Amino acid sequence: MEFVYAVPFHNRFRGITVREGMLLRGPAGWGEFCPFEDYSDTESAPWLAAAVEASDLGWPAPVRNRVEVNTTVPVVSAERAYELVAASGCRTAKVKVADPRSSLVDDCERVAAVRAALGDTGMIRVDANAAWDVDTAVNSIRELDHAAGGLEYVEQPCPSIEDLATVRRKVEVRIAADESIRRAEDPLKVAVAEAADVAVIKVAPLGGVRRALEVAEACGLPCVVSSAVETSVGLAAGLALAGALPSLDFACGLGTRSLLTADVTSDELSPVDGYLPVPRTAPEPDRAEAVAASPEVQAKWQARLARVRAL
Ligand SMILES: [Mg+2]
Repeated sequence: MEFVYAVPFHNRFRGITVREGMLLRGPAGWGEFCPFEDYSDTESAPWLAAAVEASDLGWPAPVRNRVEVNTTVPVVSAERAYELVAASGCRTAKVKVADPRSSLVDDCERVAAVRAALGDTGMIRVDANAAWDVDTAVNSIRELDHAAGGLEYVEQPCPSIEDLATVRRKVEVRIAADESIRRAEDPLKVAVAEAADVAVIKVAPLGGVRRALEVAEACGLPCVVSSAVETSVGLAAGLALAGALPSLDFACGLGTRSLLTADVTSDELSPVDGYLPVPRTAPEPDRAEAVAASPEVQAKWQARLARVRAL
């Protein structure tokens, strides 16, 4: 049994306005197959493996029953950033920085407003999405660390692993690798290059919860589990991974339900007081009909699934 959904984002994300994907039903429950539009069939294969794991096999037993998550602050005014963080209930905020629409001064003001909203005990991480060269990264990280009254880490300051390693040697703030980790072998390269202190891992690109657990163990870095902005069916797999990791030192990036305008289920995985439960199976997609994709989009995904299955 399969279902194709199309759910609009509240704000443009990765250049797209609608999240599309497929839900697959198997003996163990529901899985979500939702590689982004620009992913090749080969790149999409681990995403299918993750969906099939969820639907056919289920997930390994968790070692914790809830997971702390961060709230995400997009490129907004300092006042809006304060409001978003204060309303989130989360103790950790991830602030997007280095966007072309925002100067370093703007970023510092936004980060300072987030500190005011969180108080001294909150954690602030920033995400540069690989926007900086080494010199800009070193300068910007120092300024942002100062404005934040201390950063938990900076996510992907530069594109290349070599530059991450250089920046890491020059700043006191921890470095997290995100875009550098998109395939199962990548976390090992990051660790070997001493390019990061933290690995951001996602279930779908790594090919499932079991595979991601192996990768996390092999790379030896503390891991932060993040979503690929799935519906709550896919978020459940991320929570299964976060729930099964032997140690979890940082809040996870799984509080992304609010980026989408709707969900496929009434049993939504939206954080309460900064935490999400670790589910044993994905929620039943009882609202899938309300977000059903058009016949053309359904045909496109059926064809995509067939191609990736045939690999
Ligand atoms: Mg990131």
